[in-house]
Amino acid sequence: MTDCIFCKIAAGEIPSRKVYEDEDILAFHDIKPAAPVHFLIIPKKHIPTLADVAENDIPVMGKIMAVAGKLAKQEGCHDGFRTIVNTGRVGCQEVYHVHIHILGGDKPLGLMLGK
Ligand code: 5GP
Ligand code: ZN
Repeated sequence: MTDCIFCKIAAGEIPSRKVYEDEDILAFHDIKPAAPVHFLIIPKKHIPTLADVAENDIPVMGKIMAVAGKLAKQEGCHDGFRTIVNTGRVGCQEVYHVHIHILGGDKPLGLMLGK
C-alpha cells in the first residue's frame, strides 16, 4: 500500500519511536499518547482492519498477541495494561492498517471512550 501511513512507518519511510521490530511485526510509540505508556503493534503486511484478518494471517496476529505482554512490561506497564483495537467506522478507526493499542502506566486508566 503506497499511501498507508503505517506501511510507510513499517518501511522506515516515516520515522517512528520504535519499541520492537522483527521480520513480521513492528511496535512503535503512538504520536499522540493517550496514557503514560501508549504504543501500537502492527503487522508489517498491510491488513486494513481486524475485520479483514484472514486465516493465513493467524501466525502474524498471534505473534502480536504473544509479544504484547513482554513489550508492555518493558515499556513500564508493571501491573497490567489495556489493549484496544478500533475497527472500521463504528469503531472510530483512524488509520486503516490494523493495529493494537497498548495503553498503561502506573495508575488504573478508567474508561477511555474519548473519541
Ligand atoms: P486508531 O484510531 O486508528 O485506532 O488509532 C490510530 C493511532 O495512530 C492514533 O492513536 C494516532 O495518534 C496514531 N498515529 C497516527 N498517525 C501516526 C504517525 O504518523 N505516527 C505515530 N507514531 N502514530 C500515529
Ligand atoms: Zn498499511
